[in-house]
Amino acid sequence: MRFCDLHVHSTASDGTDAPGRLAEVAAAAGLAAFALTDHDTTAGIPEAQRAADRLGIGFVPGVELSADPDVLGSGRSRGTLHLLGYFVHHDDPGLAAIARTLRDARAQRNPAMVRRLNELGIELSYDEVVAVAGRSRSAVVGRPHIAQVLVDRGHVGSVAEAFERFIGVRGAAYVRRDLLSAADAIAAIRAAGGLAALAHPVQLAIADQALFERVLRRLVDAGLGAVETRHPDLEPADTARLTELADRYGLLTTGGSDYHGGRKVNRLGSEQVPATCWQRLAEAAGG
Ligand code: AMP
Ligand code: FE
Ligand code: FE
Ligand code: ZN
Repeated sequence: MRFCDLHVHSTASDGTDAPGRLAEVAAAAGLAAFALTDHDTTAGIPEAQRAADRLGIGFVPGVELSADPDVLGSGRSRGTLHLLGYFVHHDDPGLAAIARTLRDARAQRNPAMVRRLNELGIELSYDEVVAVAGRSRSAVVGRPHIAQVLVDRGHVGSVAEAFERFIGVRGAAYVRRDLLSAADAIAAIRAAGGLAALAHPVQLAIADQALFERVLRRLVDAGLGAVETRHPDLEPADTARLTELADRYGLLTTGGSDYHGGRKVNRLGSEQVPATCWQRLAEAAGG
């Protein structure tokens, strides 16, 4: 069977491989196709597309938008909600405007997090964070870049420790950023010609299955077209449960490694997602 990887990050956001390099890695891994799904930007798509065409590997232009996890408006959500957009037009003006808003929210949040770290007695400056992101010409500055500075400066031993102790949702220096509603994120993806998929559903951190289903139903009503059933954060039992839900709600299934290059242990192609997932998504997206 041939496989694909439909969740991959480049240096355009918080990965460490350039978009063109990803096509080489994906081709070397023998994948039929891969999707570039950078956080809050489509800037890497043209380069990745050119490299994929040159190497004869299938390519899905994508994006991963962060949205407000409080889908039902209960005010109690503690999780993370990410929406993947597949086959988006990378130069769609509406999507570009939304992505810019999300990046502006980061520009507010990131320095605030550095200030919190400074208050905790940890020495680093926001300029260092921007320099780390700038070294890879990243369009999106995020927590992984802050983590990198904490590691480089010797404040923590690893990126994982940086998240655990300081900048993860339960970390001492975590600052939330303003988020888009899930409905607006889905609408923006669809208006850009894309198909919206719920990424790593376990990160929503909803243990109650009935509650999770209510959230999923709300997202389906808003135009969700697929759900990620294979991802390093998902156990086999999660995959089985989500596949059954996808079936029941008429959603396509997707999956990927969430590869970030050297910043995470995830390896490209590790999730063994059948190439048929890619083909079905392509058909549903109209090409
Ligand atoms: P941000 O988008 O700036 O809020 O940062 C979120 C990103 O940090 C995610 O997309 C991951 O790439 C990364 N991340 C989140 N949690 C961890 C973790 N525990 N270890 C490593 N990277 C993480
Ligand atoms: Fe990331
Ligand atoms: Fe994500
Ligand atoms: Zn991701």
